[in-house]
Order: sequence, then structure tokens, then C-alpha cells
Amino acid sequence: MMARRPRHSIMLIGAGILAVLTGGIATLALWPQSVPPVPATVAATVPPPPFVAVPAPPPPAALPMPQFTAFLDRLRAEAATKGLNPATLDQAFAGLIPDPEVLDLAGVQPEYVKTAGEYLTLLVSDTRLDNGRLKLQEQAATLAAVEATYGVDRHIVLAIWGIESNYGAGMGSRRVIRSLATLAAFDTRRPDFWRGELVAALRILQSGDTIAENMAGSWAGAMGHTQFMPSTFAAHAVDFDRDGRRDIWASIPDALGSTANYLKVSGWVAGNPWGFEVVLPANFDFALSAPGQTKPWAQWQALGVAQARERALPATLGPLQLLLPAGARGPAFLASANFRAILRYNNAVSYALAVGHLADRLAGGSTFLKPWPGDDRALAKADREDLQRRLVAGGFGSGAVDGVIGSGTRAAIRAFQKAKRLPEDGHPDLALLERLRQEVQ
Ligand code: CA
Repeated sequence: MMARRPRHSIMLIGAGILAVLTGGIATLALWPQSVPPVPATVAATVPPPPFVAVPAPPPPAALPMPQFTAFLDRLRAEAATKGLNPATLDQAFAGLIPDPEVLDLAGVQPEYVKTAGEYLTLLVSDTRLDNGRLKLQEQAATLAAVEATYGVDRHIVLAIWGIESNYGAGMGSRRVIRSLATLAAFDTRRPDFWRGELVAALRILQSGDTIAENMAGSWAGAMGHTQFMPSTFAAHAVDFDRDGRRDIWASIPDALGSTANYLKVSGWVAGNPWGFEVVLPANFDFALSAPGQTKPWAQWQALGVAQARERALPATLGPLQLLLPAGARGPAFLASANFRAILRYNNAVSYALAVGHLADRLAGGSTFLKPWPGDDRALAKADREDLQRRLVAGGFGSGAVDGVIGSGTRAAIRAFQKAKRLPEDGHPDLALLERLRQEVQ
């Protein structure tokens, strides 16, 4: 999941959906050289149904069966070159028909969006906190063993479980083979990605880690308690309970161990926090929140930055990136390399912040000191496109006008803010758009 491979395309859809849902907080390349542009799990990039304010779609049209059958036949013909036995495919494809709903879901780009504050409030809810505290007790032995084995804070592992599947209550009930075969056969935007995931899923069945009936997941094929894509499973899933199978659907130890393993491989440093809230001094230079402007804690302190709530910080902390998810008026955070490891799971700042904050709260920490700006509103799709169009027209950027606020759009916003002597926080909001409308016709 870590290479710049065909997955680039899925980021555009997966993280793109989150980007618009979170007001464009996603796909922010904080560490441009090392953060892959692609989320580890596709479903993770798409908030669970309760958070998607999308009107009920019309019933999907049936998909043409001959095209589907022809696709399956082509895959059968290549099976041997992909290490798949004919029997595996015969079993997996028996009676298989395409699922038109997943194709519709893959094409959704919601009109309505959420700010980072709204997203965090929904994800780090009282219910998720209460359930998390229960799981902290129930799964204490597993969480302790996972933490000891991989060096990843148990609260972080627990928080990812809570956000990905509500601690296993919402793992997705679609047959993964059906979803991925449908997408591979009919989604013309990224057929190679889906085909690769389908092959990876078929290999899982062939290996005996689970059976087709139990291989359930999201519309995009993200599977089990912590919503691994099949290729992530292939690379990082572990048999933590040592029963001979990597079963992230039925075995909580396997799922949590696999998640911790993935974070460890992604660079998690034991003993370090993901980051923490900070208080910025008056007349602070908000340009320091630009991606790549990392500094050690001592340097931030020298600039007048203080912890919002005092805690002992380890000497291993390393460089810290300033985050302003709601712009200069909202809470500010310094994020460590462990935050980057969470971003490997899902390259969206709001997601990683929600994981980190849920973990802190489950560990007994308190809410953020600074409230989210109550009047912060995410821009509607037409406004996001208008913003991008005017930035390009004004000579502040050259990116695509696609309504997805990524690192390119943010850089263009910063350039505009710098030219107009505004706080350079890169945050897209209505005030900024109004200013742009005045300045750029
Ligand atoms: Ca197992």
C-alpha cells in the first residue's frame, strides 16, 4: 500500500470523498517525500453511512451479465500466471452476479461536506468513547500483547478499530469477491486497481485464511474489524492468535495485531505520542503550518509555541509538523512521525486526528482546549470549484478544478493569502472565497 502505484487513482476517489466530506482537510501531503498518496484502506476513506449526508440514490440499473461473464473468463484464462488454481476461481465465481450498488457508490462525490470539527465531533462521539472504554477492559489481554509485540500504543490500535468498524459492529456485509469483481469489470476509471485487489482477495481464499461466505467487507472491498484492503492484508495481516489462519473477520487478536503490525511497518515509534494540541503566540507566522515545515519541539518552543495541556514529552519525539485543520482561528496541533504512520492507514488529516484524539480520550485525556470555530463552514462543491478556478485565474495555482481540496489547492491558497497579507493558513472558507471573488473576476 505504500508505493506510488495504480493506487493513485483510488486516492482521488477514496480520499477525495473524505476530502469533500471534511471540507477539504484530506489529501494534505504533510511530509511530501515520504507519505504515500494512497490510503491503506479504501473503506476507511469513506466515512460510515451515518456521516454521509447524501440523499437516497435511485435504484441502480442492472449491469450487463455478458460483460461480467467475459471479464470472469478473462481472469480464469490468466489464473495460472497469478498463482491461482482453477478450483479457487470456480468456487469463488459460482453463481456470481455483479452488484450495481457498488458501482454507484464508487462514483459518488458528495455535494455536502463536513469541516474537521464536525468530522471529529461525529467520530469521537460519547458512544464511541463509552464503547471504547468497555473494549479496553474486555480486550485488555489482547491489547497488552499487541502493544508488547509491535510497540504501538494500545489506545491507538483501539481507536482505529473503533473508527473503522465501531469495534467490529460495522465491518460491512457485502461479499468482497462480488464487490471487487463488479468494480474490476465495470469501473472504467481504475480497473487495474480493482483487478489487483480482486486477485489479492482470491489468493486469500486460496490460502484458507477464510472462506468466501465469511469474506465480507465494504463496497470497496475493505475487510474485517479494521478494514484492510486485500493487498494490505497480503502484505501486513498476521496470525496473532496462532491458530494457523489470518482471520481479521472473526479473530479480534488477528485484526488488532494486523493493524499494529501495519502501523509499525509504517514507522510507528514506540513511546511517542501522535502529537498534541498547542497554543500559538500572538502575531504567529501561520506560514509555518505549510507542509514540510517540521521542527523539533525545542524550536517550536523558541517561537513561543506551548502545549495546550502540559505533559511530559519523550526525548525521541523528533520533528513536528504544525496542523491547523480549521485554519488560524481553530485549534492547532503539532504532529509527530507517528501521525504520519496513521496517515499511511488513511491519508487524510481529519482521519488521523480523529484516531489520535479518540486514543487520547480513551487513555483518560481531555477534550481540546480551543473549541472548533462555530462558524466554520465547509464549502459546497460549486464553491470549491469556484475557489479553484479563481486561484488559477489569479495566477496563484495551476491545479485541476475538480472540487477536491488537496495539497495543490492549499498551496495556491497560501500564495493568495501571502500576496494579500492574510494569515497564511491555507484554509478554504467562505471569507476567503469572498475575498477571492473581490480580487479575481
Ligand atoms: Ca488466527
